[in-house]
Amino acid sequence: MKKLDTTCPKCGAPHARKLSVIHAEGLSTVETEINTVGTFNTIGGQQITTEGNSSSVQQTRASREAAPPEMPRIVTKGMHNRKMLILAGIATCLVGLWLFSMLVVLCGVAMIVGAFMLDTDPSIAEQSDYDEQTRDIREAIEAWEQTFQCVSCGNRFVPLEIAA
Ligand SMILES: [Zn+2]
Repeated sequence: MKKLDTTCPKCGAPHARKLSVIHAEGLSTVETEINTVGTFNTIGGQQITTEGNSSSVQQTRASREAAPPEMPRIVTKGMHNRKMLILAGIATCLVGLWLFSMLVVLCGVAMIVGAFMLDTDPSIAEQSDYDEQTRDIREAIEAWEQTFQCVSCGNRFVPLEIAA
């Protein structure tokens, strides 16, 4: 079995925490903070409310600074077509209402229904383009998953494996 050496290479402190853990904890702490703010609010303590707010902002920052690189979503031609057809369908419905024409409204509804029947899955070419464009980000996310942050000095590093 292998263990990770989480000793900070910069300051020698023995404790470092995973970035993903810092990130997740910050997110859950924010919720708790907001609940607390709500409780104080009903009592009517204006000052306490403000304190609760500022500490929740701090938690958000710690979590945000440990956040993983963001992966852009894939946008396929089918998705683009669906969006356009929905917009056209809505416009057609509005024109139909303006004309008091049920037939035109039904056309618009049919366009919207049709839009959701479009195939939006990426083609092989679209998928490989996307994989190519996001390679750097995917590598950065993989690195983030292995990165620790020193509790003492904030230094970020990837721990080495040591034999147990
Ligand atoms: Zn350190």
